Amino acid sequence: MNAETPIETRLEAFRSRWSGTTGKMLIGGEWREAASGETFATEDPATGEKLADVASAGQEDVDAAVAAARAAFEGPWSKVKPDERAKLINRLADLIEKNGDELALTETLDVGRPIQFSRIADVGGAVSQLRYQAGWATKLQGETNEISAPGEWLSYVLREPIGVCGQIVPWNFPLAMACGKLGPAMAAGCTVVLKPAEQTPLSTIRLGELALEAGFPEGVINVVTGYGRTSGAMLANHMDVDKVAFTGSTETGKAIIEASKTNFKRISLELGGKSPTFIFADADLKKAIPAAAMGIFFNAGQVCAAGSRLFVQEEVADQVLEGIAGMAKMLRVGHTLDPETVIGPLVSQQQLDRVTGYIESGRQEGATVMVGGGRKEGAGWFVEPTVLVDTEASMKVRAEEIFGPVLCATRFAGEDDADRLAALGNETQFGLAASIWTKDIGMAHRLARRLKAGTIRINGSGGVDPALPLGGFKASGWGRENGRAGVEAYTELKAISVALD
Ligand code: NAD
Repeated sequence: MNAETPIETRLEAFRSRWSGTTGKMLIGGEWREAASGETFATEDPATGEKLADVASAGQEDVDAAVAAARAAFEGPWSKVKPDERAKLINRLADLIEKNGDELALTETLDVGRPIQFSRIADVGGAVSQLRYQAGWATKLQGETNEISAPGEWLSYVLREPIGVCGQIVPWNFPLAMACGKLGPAMAAGCTVVLKPAEQTPLSTIRLGELALEAGFPEGVINVVTGYGRTSGAMLANHMDVDKVAFTGSTETGKAIIEASKTNFKRISLELGGKSPTFIFADADLKKAIPAAAMGIFFNAGQVCAAGSRLFVQEEVADQVLEGIAGMAKMLRVGHTLDPETVIGPLVSQQQLDRVTGYIESGRQEGATVMVGGGRKEGAGWFVEPTVLVDTEASMKVRAEEIFGPVLCATRFAGEDDADRLAALGNETQFGLAASIWTKDIGMAHRLARRLKAGTIRINGSGGVDPALPLGGFKASGWGRENGRAGVEAYTELKAISVALD
């Protein structure tokens, strides 16, 4: 099966793979139902139809998965050499690529990602994460150190894997984010219990199957499925988990911090954002306008780094806003299997209610809806791409993460002043990303230095680069994923000193 295979044939294959299955979880190399026998349904956000029943993990299942991960970590996995770990990670990447069309369709149906994007964003993102991270397996090392007492003490610092890791993934990019977490953990020599979001578990279950096919020993990669407040919380609170890597909402991030206190487990948190885009009068508007539009409308705004606040210089504000509003009207909102569709549905009814609730609150607080502003009638959880103008910093729509296709636009006038603009950019509790469009490169750098954001792009846009640290300032998270910092976050340092006299 490949991209040329007719969609009906691919759908048939998907249905026969998933329908009627009572989901199983990967625990210690075996596929098991939940001990309680409980399941829950996952649905297609474009139609509301049930796709499959999935196991709902309880304490017994989470305990079993953590025990399997512990046994593998203390046992056979600790003897697997780094180059063999690299080979396994690369083999998993190859298998994801080989099964790319099937996995892309799975993400389209389970997440609601338009089919034209799922091969690139989901499968491509997963593969590039794993291939990048595989390289670290043979690069991580400690150091020798004789600084304090040369000739008296020989000290060396080991960099060891942290241990058993709980990895909790959200619903917006399930496969790519699972691989972004799995890759560095495997490179560092950890073992994992992966928990996908309850809305989007299917690709992670397939990832577990492919991990076994790639040859990862039993217990190294475990997959438990279930609700956040039950299975997720059990994993986060578990006394035998050494680290939790979490991506999701800032509220749940606080719960993960609380849970980490049980045994002082290490945590890394990738949380929400309310990222600003700055467009100056001298910017290349042919590039800046579509980038700003797709920066908020791509994936129906369900992107942690979405450019959800726009600050545009007065001289070009009308042109920019009309350009973005024009794109909002033109971008095809529709069924995810239609190859022309650009904007798919939100992931769930709950998310639909949340986003339309925010738009309504913006109206009530005095913002003007320039374009969009409503749900698209019919089946599925679609919201029109929306631009709100006349927004104030005090409004909920401008301060809180909406996680939908809703842009809050604000004009700025007068002299360029990096301090003043940075204060606008930094006005929320978040600090995940920012983008700056101007030909005045000095200004772009001055502003970038002052913004509290983990990822800043100047005169360009793009997806996640696994080689660059990813994470947030302030309430957008703790620690960094990706790059050297990301893989080192799966290690502990140990200093050993030998007296030479
Ligand atoms: P969430 O934070 O509740 O869920 C994310 C993951 O955490 C899921 O796997 C979930 O099962 C799990 N989880 C939930 N509660 C948990 C708990 N107490 N302990 C352990 N794990 C738990 O996110 P959500 O409710 O699905 O979405 C709500 C909002 O979160 C969105 O509207 C958006 O603002 C934000 N969000 C951000 C990202 C991101 O990439 N930063 C991704 C998804 C959602």
